[in-house]
Amino acid sequence: MSLWQCPVCGEILTEEGRTLFCGKRHTFDRARSGYVNLLPANKKRTKDPGDNVLMVQARRSFLTKDYYKPMSDALCRIVCGYMPDKGTLLDAGSGEGYYTRNVCNALTEAGKTADVYGIDIAKCAVDAAAKSCKAADFAVASIFHLPVVNESCDVLMSLFAPYCGEEFSRVLKSHGKMILVIPDENHLMGLKKAVYDKPYANQVQNYELDGFRFLGAEKIEGEIFMDNSDDIQNLFSMTPYYYKTGREEHLRLEALKELRTETAFQILQYEKEV
Ligand SMILES: [Zn+2]
Repeated sequence: MSLWQCPVCGEILTEEGRTLFCGKRHTFDRARSGYVNLLPANKKRTKDPGDNVLMVQARRSFLTKDYYKPMSDALCRIVCGYMPDKGTLLDAGSGEGYYTRNVCNALTEAGKTADVYGIDIAKCAVDAAAKSCKAADFAVASIFHLPVVNESCDVLMSLFAPYCGEEFSRVLKSHGKMILVIPDENHLMGLKKAVYDKPYANQVQNYELDGFRFLGAEKIEGEIFMDNSDDIQNLFSMTPYYYKTGREEHLRLEALKELRTETAFQILQYEKEV
């Protein structure tokens, strides 16, 4: 049984052929690549919400070169540690599926039987995820209205995505684990120094979150070296600074032929309070 629920009425969805439907006959067809669009048209604020095709391509191109592999490896180890032998994982904000895929592989290698689901609001990202990770089930949906049955997930992971505590708590089982990956203070400082006159460190939030017990934070620090302009531009387009940057800074960025920069992440771990 899938954990998808109808985004219109909230009833559990049943699947027949390539169509998901609820008891009120709201129906949702799977796309050719396998994902299902569970974003009701009236919940879209724009025609194509989320990252656009170019941003998805940039991120996929950067991530598949494994610059962030040390963090991904740590994430996989942490998820495998929390996952029961037979369990359910939701990747809330799965993007083009790089981390979902790595975690699926790690769970299989660890001998775990896991049902893995991913959601993202960007249809082009979900399409890419569905093509590259056949082991998981992907849906187009909003993090703020997860089309996911109450208390159905053992583990929820969310990387660089908006946080929605109420929804995350609702879909987690009692004592379910939530794993958040956030940029640490000095993440990409080398990149920021190359682009900005006054680079600022990232602000790291307070660890306390309502409804969750904090289990711990693991810091993953490293350095990456990029020897070509494409990778540098792709990385920059993945950051929140991309759209806030003026023309002069963009020109500086385009002139960079190589760059060495710090990477710094925190993998925060929580347990749902009953
Ligand atoms: Zn329905």
